Amino acid sequence: MGITAVVGANWGDEGKGKITDVLAAEAHYVVRYQGGSNAGHTIINPMGKFALHLLPSGVFYPKVVNVIGPGVALNAEDLLREYDELISRGVPNPIIRVSDRAQVVLPYHKLLDALEEERLGERQFGSTKSGIAPFYADKYLKLGIQVADLYDPERLRQRLEASLAPKNTLLTHLYKRPIISIDALLENLTSSAERLKPFICDTTVLLRQALARGEKILLEGQLGALRDPDHGIYPYSTSSSTLAGFAAVGAGVPPYSIHEIVAVVKAYSSCVGAGPFISEIEGGPGDELRKLGGDAGEYGATTGRPRRLGWFDAIATRYGCMLQGSTEAALTNLDVLGYLNEIPVCTAYEIDGRITEDFPVSSMLKRAKPVWKKLPGWREDISEIRSFDTLPVNARKYVQFIEEQIGLPIRRISVGPKRDQIIDRR
Ligand code: GDP
Repeated sequence: MGITAVVGANWGDEGKGKITDVLAAEAHYVVRYQGGSNAGHTIINPMGKFALHLLPSGVFYPKVVNVIGPGVALNAEDLLREYDELISRGVPNPIIRVSDRAQVVLPYHKLLDALEEERLGERQFGSTKSGIAPFYADKYLKLGIQVADLYDPERLRQRLEASLAPKNTLLTHLYKRPIISIDALLENLTSSAERLKPFICDTTVLLRQALARGEKILLEGQLGALRDPDHGIYPYSTSSSTLAGFAAVGAGVPPYSIHEIVAVVKAYSSCVGAGPFISEIEGGPGDELRKLGGDAGEYGATTGRPRRLGWFDAIATRYGCMLQGSTEAALTNLDVLGYLNEIPVCTAYEIDGRITEDFPVSSMLKRAKPVWKKLPGWREDISEIRSFDTLPVNARKYVQFIEEQIGLPIRRISVGPKRDQIIDRR
């Protein structure tokens, strides 16, 4: 049995958590492979409404093993807090395994993230200030701390000393803040390391063994293709690759074992934070969509910030699906559009008077203007519909239009935030 990756085709917030929660019913493992607790998935199922930031979305099935892979930015306190919350809300026996090679987000990463955004002022990136950029910078500067280091006191102290030296210089001279003492840091780390211990193992071996037994593994992406640091809207990208191609690396599985790549595509666009957003809806109509998308929680799950909303962007989404190497798509939030007489979609960009259907490089994006096409709406509540054939004709046409634009079959359509609000077309 091959591995399935569930990944975002857009800017994030496509509803990957909901789709993973649906697919996890048939999975043995759900694996996070990149990013940290800087974004969230909202999941509504028979146990209630949950916002997961770091835990994989398989935690609601007691038989599913939920893995934090080596590529994840592990904030141990956030992970333990989420775990405690699940237990206190009666979620039965969430099984968690954390890679001993994952690296840990430390309090100074969060501090430096916040101080840098403050220093940048109006030029800031709209970071969630969860420490993710300084964390990945440390990883590639070889100043990171691996989970296994937490249990080797001598190595931990040496690694922290090496990491703290340049930070304390920055704190003193650039940010004019007090320096960080290694002893306070060590005390704080030791207590979360103790609680983390039962969850830790070599998850790469664990997943290889699962593959050998033919067990079903889901890889769950965070954010979306357009946030990828190499291919996305750099520098308004995140700091780790959001692509299915990286999933093999960040999870520790062979690339050839990933057979299905499900691109989660949203029926309209949303984006949290700064950066170019060509199909953005300005003013009133955007507020209306946000209000009607109420259940779609058009406020960031981690930050509570109102999401910027836009109409469906065929250029960005086709590019996102291509980057992901998607084999199929899952379309979410179709129900939200049910109030419109006609639905604008962006089918091309105009840049300096020229029309393009290719997603341009970042430096050209700010000159891009949307070219609109209007599709007829269906003005009907579709949230209780469970088969494609009983959708209103214009809703079916909208789905078929998106399929043509992205060049992929849409095999699942989500018509509401709840687990059972899904149309399965397979
Ligand atoms: P993720 O990070 O990609 O999982 O996305 P988020 O959880 O941040 O955002 C998706 C939001 O849309 C959440 O509030 C979900 O509960 C909600 N949602 C997911 N699918 C649907 C859908 O088909 N219809 C509606 N109305 N809401 C949905």
